Amino acid sequence: MDDGEDRNGTADERTSEEEARPGHDREPSAGESGREVSEGSSREVRWAGVAAAVLGGVIVAVVGLTTPWEALAGTPVAAAGPEGDFTAEQIARSQAFDAATSVPSYLSLGLTLVFAGLLVATPLGAKVLGVLRGPWWVRVLLGVLLLTVIEEALRWPLGVWFETVLRDYGLSTQDWVSWTGDRLKRIGISTALLGGMILAVVALARRFRRWWIPAAAGAFALTVAASFVYPVVFEPVFNDFRSMPDGPLRTSLLAMAERDGVPVEDVLVADASRRTTALNAYVSGFGATRRIVVYDNLLKAPEPEVELVVAHELGHAKENDVLYGTLIGALGAAFGAILLYLVFGRVRRRAGVASIADWRAAGAIMGLMTLATFLSGPAQNLVSRQIEARADVHALDLTRDPVTFAAMQKRLATANISDLSPDAVEYVLYASHPTAPQRIALARAWAELNGVPGP
Ligand SMILES: [Zn+2]
Repeated sequence: MDDGEDRNGTADERTSEEEARPGHDREPSAGESGREVSEGSSREVRWAGVAAAVLGGVIVAVVGLTTPWEALAGTPVAAAGPEGDFTAEQIARSQAFDAATSVPSYLSLGLTLVFAGLLVATPLGAKVLGVLRGPWWVRVLLGVLLLTVIEEALRWPLGVWFETVLRDYGLSTQDWVSWTGDRLKRIGISTALLGGMILAVVALARRFRRWWIPAAAGAFALTVAASFVYPVVFEPVFNDFRSMPDGPLRTSLLAMAERDGVPVEDVLVADASRRTTALNAYVSGFGATRRIVVYDNLLKAPEPEVELVVAHELGHAKENDVLYGTLIGALGAAFGAILLYLVFGRVRRRAGVASIADWRAAGAIMGLMTLATFLSGPAQNLVSRQIEARADVHALDLTRDPVTFAAMQKRLATANISDLSPDAVEYVLYASHPTAPQRIALARAWAELNGVPGP
């Protein structure tokens, strides 16, 4: 914390020096950029505009046509409040937890957006990066690191606040040492990836006039590669995984997978309890890296409920949801790269840089990436909720047990203190899954449709 503030102060001092020095707003010299500034040629912009429009249209069409917009074909699922399925005490606890966590969450989001906005709309990034010395590519990497350190130092107290609420409610099992370690690892990984991406953009812009073409191809490839290696490279940084021990549960889960026609050789158990009391399971990776993981906490739940959770994950595996999401995300990343080319020409003057080939552009690129990630979130959540509902229907079809499904949903929502009735903003910004009452309502509709006793 102290270290971050010191560096922040140092950066500010040097920034004013830089400002006072004449010619700091100069175009990068030929030696620096290796080529003349090429953005803004109207023919070039037109080509990129056409490419963005075509790619954007393809993404919208593919998502529109392949998303399962109706979980139960032809059967409307009645929107449900939490009152029917949860006790007044559970609802009150969920509301209190939501209120306590919203403040640090929204402040953190606000800080992120303001910081990104400043990087895009003011010369802040260019000035901070102006203090750095060394070869241009070193300065890009150090610049991304320096800006990240400043932003994360500002966000740190909000993270402490959020974690304190988790502990008050008994959701976190971490001490401050392991919490700090986790946070630093997460920041380190994201900074390394971000630094690599921004370095690639600047390097391509220095080398190619139409840099947006290789940048779009690279963004696509990087997204696919990152999602593929994620379970074997990044997940083990945070958790240990072991095979589910032999026993009746493992046997029945693998038998269920076989009945379902999904090839599963193993179910992995993550040591989530070192961090949280939350219950969860997920599928990650695809092809050779695909894995089904359950939190160790979940194994304390009754066996039929664990089976329901895994049946939901089998739904994701059967529909190749991770691969599908990765490919759509990769198209989105390629679209983002072209958009960066189009938008950068409009913000570069305000950001105080002549061209994206100028290494001091790294800050503005960072800001634009943050804003794009934020703006695409609601669309991702909208599609994700439909895919989650399809996996729920898969679990119901496979187990034909809506009563246990509802019991499992209640257990998860209560243990994780889920938001049972998020307001519209929370739903749009954060809800990647339907709410627990919505999922229970789906089970009820499924039961009625299939003539099975419902929850
Ligand atoms: Zn799911």
